[in-house]
Amino acid sequence: MAQKIVLGNWKMNLNLFQAEELLNDVDRLKKEVPKDVQIGVATPSIYLHSALNILTEGKVWVGSQNIYHEPNGAYTGEVSADMVNSLACHFTLIGHSERRQYFNENNEQLKAKVNLALENDLIPVFCCGESLEQRKSGDYLEVIKSQLEESLLHLDKGSVKGVVIAYEPIWAIGTGETASADQAQEVHQFIRSLLTQKYDAEVANLISILYGGSCNPTNASELFQQNDIDGGLIGGASLKATNFIEIAKSF
Ligand code: PEP
Repeated sequence: MAQKIVLGNWKMNLNLFQAEELLNDVDRLKKEVPKDVQIGVATPSIYLHSALNILTEGKVWVGSQNIYHEPNGAYTGEVSADMVNSLACHFTLIGHSERRQYFNENNEQLKAKVNLALENDLIPVFCCGESLEQRKSGDYLEVIKSQLEESLLHLDKGSVKGVVIAYEPIWAIGTGETASADQAQEVHQFIRSLLTQKYDAEVANLISILYGGSCNPTNASELFQQNDIDGGLIGGASLKATNFIEIAKSF
């Protein structure tokens, strides 16, 4: 069975003092989260060290929101998988739609990032999802299939077990509009079936597939009840510890 996971994506929010306050709040409230639910926070890279110091005893994974697609070198301002791993982080987001859209990240670069994450003992949390236009045109499953095929499904059976997938319909991110439980389940089931075809049912059932897109304490429980939804990637609602922990308690 796939692990239940709820991850917060803080994006480019909070100064150091606000970040430390939120980290302390999450640390204090983490005991309320059921034992079988893994939680984690993707802070801005500049706060990863603080996060690892404040969040004790391993209940809360700490991860970066991005890594660069080259291992090292003259790439001013970028952060490598090795750097993130050397801090003792657990995961990195890869291919968030905001990275694809504003920083023109393409499937080939994302494939390189997935490989670098795994080589550096980081769990790649691979994000995929369609735009509103693609949803309306009815092409959304094809879009998701090609995102996965071009950046993730080159992995062999042994490696793919180490990834987490996040389905994040772009039209639901930060908009307050959530995919309905049925809409989300349809895509999650589709992703699981792709994994079954490419690998096998055992592998497919081991990979956590998270939903992201305006998930909050009110809608989380209906989403998390769906057969193929193993948790959430939470943006806005993860900036308040009580909301974030409430979501993690929604299974
Ligand atoms: C996200 O950016 O990963 C996300 C899901 O954002 P929000 O929850 O704010 O829609």
